[in-house]
Amino acid sequence: DFSKVDLLIVGAGFYGATIAERVANELQKNVLLIDRRSHIGGNAYSEFDGETGIEVHRYGAHLFHTPNEVVWTYLNRFTAFTDYKHRVYSTYRDQVYSMPINLGTISQFFNRRLSPDQARALIADHAAEMAGRHPANLEEKAISLIGRPLYEAFIRGYTAKQWQTDPRDLPEHIITRLPVRYTFDNRYFNDKYEGLPVDGYTAIFERMLKHPKIQIALGVDFFSLKSSLPAGLPIVYTGPIDRYFDYSEGELGWRTIDFEKETLNTGDFQGMAVMNYADETIPYTRILEFRHFNPERSYQNEKTVVVREYSRSAKRADEPYYPIDTRQDKEVFLRYRERAEAETNVHFGGRLGTYRYLDMHQAIGAALKAFDSRVVPHFTEGRAIGGEK
Ligand code: FAD
Ligand code: UDP
Repeated sequence: DFSKVDLLIVGAGFYGATIAERVANELQKNVLLIDRRSHIGGNAYSEFDGETGIEVHRYGAHLFHTPNEVVWTYLNRFTAFTDYKHRVYSTYRDQVYSMPINLGTISQFFNRRLSPDQARALIADHAAEMAGRHPANLEEKAISLIGRPLYEAFIRGYTAKQWQTDPRDLPEHIITRLPVRYTFDNRYFNDKYEGLPVDGYTAIFERMLKHPKIQIALGVDFFSLKSSLPAGLPIVYTGPIDRYFDYSEGELGWRTIDFEKETLNTGDFQGMAVMNYADETIPYTRILEFRHFNPERSYQNEKTVVVREYSRSAKRADEPYYPIDTRQDKEVFLRYRERAEAETNVHFGGRLGTYRYLDMHQAIGAALKAFDSRVVPHFTEGRAIGGEK
């Protein structure tokens, strides 16, 4: 019975949950939030492992970070954050280096003490092949940033494993996510705000969605209900955009990950949360050890949970995690954007709905903006919620 539903939201990840929270609290409208999974939280969902008590992020390590004051203030209404600052190491040929590439990595790799200026000069030398040329893909961009030797050690193999795509066919923006530093600063992120939710990720969603005007239906697939919806019911759709149009314009490329979880009889497997593996001969890209995300918790010391990540390109039945976004994908996506314009009662949002590699803070930030620009005008002035380009 949809007669009491003012807005249907498809997907209980950060995008859908943010819109649901805003609509219920700010507009006092009735929201029906559905997800085909058996839980809220989308890919940010985490659970406390029954055997070890350790919080495990089911869909891969989720590190919260943002430069955005508005998003930070908003999310702090639903959780406090620990002072965890993410640091990553990378194993290459049986040596451990700090990641992202910084003065420590460069000095260790070239086996020399280097000042910042010396390191810059060395890297400029190694990047000379790109001088005066505009990088046209991930490989060229990486070489222009760190030179060929470091690219071949730390980026080429890892990227090929992670994307299952030649780095020369990948867009350059992927690599600019990773800073390069001529200091010994080895923080993974540059953002002003960073931390992990004190009570875990799922608690954030429980607090955001606890409202009498928000009804949640789990294990419900939008496409099994689409034909019975009242005409014109406003919808916020955060599933894959190609699926919405029944793949009529072609399939968008996605990468999925197989997570291989293991509980080990040791209090500490690797001494930190994330170890990347740069060698192409090692089939996984990284190992996560979840206890290290929360050093403030008094977990037992007998057991630890580790997860190995194996990346591959997604088929329809797989979870789509990362948009691959090749040139062809961009063209296909543009055709879906054209089609989305005609769906005036559907607003497409989130990572899957906009085919964009959004971090959590960007998904929340985009949802807060869409609430102001699409959802409020719909309910206060009767404007269409969808139909945007
Ligand atoms: P999602 O969380 O994907 O939610 C979409 C929801 O829609 C899903 O729950 C899905 O089940 C549901 N859905 C889809 N189709 C249907 C349908 N037909 N019917 C019903 N429901 C449907 N971000 C960071 O900031 N830091 C990180 O460290 C980080 N690490 C990540 C690691 C991995 C492996 C992945 C995959 C993502 C990571 N992210 C990280 C990104 C983060 O997960 C996203 O920014 C966030 O999940 C986006 O929220 P969303 O609501 O757009 O999408
Ligand atoms: N990357 C790499 N080696 C590393 C870490 C990252 O080559 O040790 C590259 C890889 O192409 C990756 C990109 O940098 O896709 C961005 O890294 P990030 O950690 O942001 O990727 P994510 O964890 O989101 O997959």
